[in-house]
Amino acid sequence: GKTFEPQGFSHLTSAPFDANLIKKDFPILRETVNGKPLVWFDNAATTQKPQSVIDRIAYFYEHENSNIHRAAHELAARASDAYEAAREKVKTFLNASSVNEIVFVRGATEGINLVACTWGDQNLNSGDEIIVSNLEHHANIVPWKRLADKKGLKLRVIPVDDDGQILLDEYAKLLNSKTRLVAFTQVSNALGTVTPAKQIVEMAHAAGAKVLIDGAQSVSHMKVDVQNLNPDFLVFSGHKLFGPTGIGALYGKEDLLNEMQPYQSGGNMIQDVTFEEIKYHKAPNRFEAGTGNIADAIGLGAAIDYVTKLGIENIGQYEHQLLEYATKLLKEIPGVRLIGTAANKASVLSFNLQGYSNDHVGQALNKEGVAVRTGHHCAQPILRRMGVETTVRPSLAFYNTTQDVDTFIQTLWELKKVRF
Ligand code: PLP
Repeated sequence: GKTFEPQGFSHLTSAPFDANLIKKDFPILRETVNGKPLVWFDNAATTQKPQSVIDRIAYFYEHENSNIHRAAHELAARASDAYEAAREKVKTFLNASSVNEIVFVRGATEGINLVACTWGDQNLNSGDEIIVSNLEHHANIVPWKRLADKKGLKLRVIPVDDDGQILLDEYAKLLNSKTRLVAFTQVSNALGTVTPAKQIVEMAHAAGAKVLIDGAQSVSHMKVDVQNLNPDFLVFSGHKLFGPTGIGALYGKEDLLNEMQPYQSGGNMIQDVTFEEIKYHKAPNRFEAGTGNIADAIGLGAAIDYVTKLGIENIGQYEHQLLEYATKLLKEIPGVRLIGTAANKASVLSFNLQGYSNDHVGQALNKEGVAVRTGHHCAQPILRRMGVETTVRPSLAFYNTTQDVDTFIQTLWELKKVRF
């Protein structure tokens, strides 16, 4: 029968990496804002979608739409095949050992809540300790804090230095025989710090603790290999990986997932139901109660195809150059304070401009078509650690060009000219 053939891979004709060509794969990047070409520098909040992802979702509704796993008819088979093919793509993308380790969830937030409410609730008891880092997004703080309050657990925090880098020596001191879980981010959404994930995992395991990695900000910038990093759990969101909103994945080691109680319950996740006894499916179905986000899971698969074709290593290399370029130019502007100056950073440039509110800077940029986030970025503890409540946060992706950076920098210079 018919299968989906993606169109719009402009970059494939170009070598080396050409962001100007790649940009053409993203229809929204042809938008104008206030009469100016859109410069999308809010990639840490969400990323834009290539035509191939948009087309894939439309194709699903035009040719395959059905519920999955439940019927004898042709469309159910098409939908189920496409959905399971998407799971396979996530598995390969993360280098998991089995598709049974990939649970579709709403996003990173739901993935973390799932682990807290199932594994955490089952395995953690009064006096046990959970370690998070000072860099965490609220999504990797609040579920653990709530669990700690409910069960009398101790929540301990790995401190960072003034550049926003994890202090491994301090972390070592926090680990002890009561540590049950270490939950940390691989890339900080507020500062861009890349954490020494493999080392953090190894140290946690040596202390007998399980590990959850928040990959929300890492999977779009670097190769994330769960067999190499070896976390017990890892979560990410599709919408930060050039895929749709409302879909993401939880990776979990298979044995661990199969020991966990369901998160939600109902259809899809059961093997057998009587009024006396319920038998659950194994993972991943055990954790996918009800009708899930079928079309968007398939859309996420298309996003992974896109990123894979581009090459995640090429992406990381290009973005690194662009970040260095932008950092150098930003530092030259008098009154700029860069927040987060780690040696190893990805994508994010948080800053304040002396004499201007962050909102003022954000609005001035918007007037020139440049979209940045201003605010606390759902990471209040780390911003307070750096001595601020909020920042202006441009965040880059592979479709951003040096010209985009120049427009952003130029606008800041113009802003200063008006005032002085
Ligand atoms: N973790 C980090 C580091 C993030 O940056 C985000 C989103 O900003 C999340 C978790 C939560 O992701 P989502 O809102 O897609 O669930």
